[in-house]
Amino acid sequence: MPDDAIDPIEMPPPERGIYCNRTLNLRSLRAVGFDMDYTLIHYRPEEWELRAYEHLRGRLVERGWPVGDHQFDAQLITLGLIVDLELGNVVKANRFGYIKKAMHGTRVLPYPEQRKAYSGEHVDLREDRWVFMNTLFGLSEGCMFLQVVDLYEEGLIPNVHSYRDLYRAVRESLDETHMEGELKAEIARNPTRFVVEDPELPLALLDLKHAGKKLLLITNSEWTYTRDMMRSCFDAHLPGDMTWRDLFDVKIVGARKPGFFGSRASLFQVVDEEGLLRPARSIEDGGIYLGGNASLVEEYLGTPGDDIIYFGDHIFADVNVSKSMLRWRTGLVVRELEDEVRAIEEFKPKQRQLQELMDDKVRMEHRFSELRIQLQRLRKRYGPKPAQSAADLEAGMKALRTRLVALDGKIAPLAKEAGELMNANWGLLMRTGNDKSHLARQIERYADIYTSRVSNLLLHTPFIYARSPRGSLPHDSGPEGGV
Ligand code: IMP
Ligand code: MG
Repeated sequence: MPDDAIDPIEMPPPERGIYCNRTLNLRSLRAVGFDMDYTLIHYRPEEWELRAYEHLRGRLVERGWPVGDHQFDAQLITLGLIVDLELGNVVKANRFGYIKKAMHGTRVLPYPEQRKAYSGEHVDLREDRWVFMNTLFGLSEGCMFLQVVDLYEEGLIPNVHSYRDLYRAVRESLDETHMEGELKAEIARNPTRFVVEDPELPLALLDLKHAGKKLLLITNSEWTYTRDMMRSCFDAHLPGDMTWRDLFDVKIVGARKPGFFGSRASLFQVVDEEGLLRPARSIEDGGIYLGGNASLVEEYLGTPGDDIIYFGDHIFADVNVSKSMLRWRTGLVVRELEDEVRAIEEFKPKQRQLQELMDDKVRMEHRFSELRIQLQRLRKRYGPKPAQSAADLEAGMKALRTRLVALDGKIAPLAKEAGELMNANWGLLMRTGNDKSHLARQIERYADIYTSRVSNLLLHTPFIYARSPRGSLPHDSGPEGGV
């Protein structure tokens, strides 16, 4: 067959791509598990987090904090940022943990202050000083924390004596907001306001099911909320009388991830619509359960962890722990990737321009250093005698300096624009300057694949063979990549 008979083949658009860190042949896996919130069901963070923020604010007002007039600002915080409990900052770190941007309260720390605070430090997420923003559920908390740091500095927060206590109070109040039923009831009553519908998703899951995969739902949400939300997002899009309960071979609610992946927690069967529980010993086909643990899932499937892929949005609870403890294959769902990929795509012409200017800069700096070393040799009388006089060398350096200043004038606005893509305060999620962000590093370590939404599997089919790309190294692009 001539090559042009299979060409051109259109691939799914890049923002709907399935990106691969470790090669994964979906065709050969036996089971596919899914988290629910922000994985199968995507909320509008500006709505969900707004309501979560308002509930949280109400609780803090009850504690006597003067936050009654504060408003949720979705731009203040993004996924992958890190709270520094010692200094009361929110920071963005690169892949090595070096801090590249910081805010104290709602004020961006100017570079000299940031340097002073962090020159000898780097983020190590194993230390309890740092809190990583693992999921979009952290946006309301992060925003409120930054805002109350401002009030704390003015001495307006009663009975709080450290940033750690300040954060703990916000955390506990948000925790209570999630635990008590009011917010959830509000969401379940009005799903169209809070949920971004994805009509492609049920077909993507049907494709997987008919390709012979066992489908599992493993969520931390409680039974009635899961039931109402899954019904409203799935049932109308499934064929005939089929419901979401038929789609998933096993449904586990109240899973208590990340503990689920390492504990021996007891399993209960949900035996009626209101969530009445009965102790259960093992997982059976079609069952609805509460609690339990991942070993019971492996027993049910009769298959080792590397035959199971689990998709989730929580970097620690869904992908880090399932991978590190059980070697499950992992897929991270990051909806913002769609905007991020589009922003990168749109910026490409300017990025090329920036790169060309940087290449010029590297060459000029190199020439400048050559002249400088010749002048040094001439003055200190060692090494080979330069062809030019000291005056000529100095004149050459002066001219280069002028050109470099002009070049910097062109680079600065482009670099600023590059740093403000997606979010004026924090920039792209996956990058810190030219380097990978700490979030990107976490994803690289723990997610075998990542993608913007589960329904991208519809475009890529259950037979996708995702291959990790040849990683780039500084010397790949020649001397200018390295300096
Ligand atoms: P999953 O993502 O489907 O596993 O479920 C996430 C569940 O955890 C949702 O029901 C959230 O309301 C809940 N959740 C998220 N953040 C918190 C928290 O800070 N405290 C308690 N529950 C939370
Ligand atoms: Mg989730």
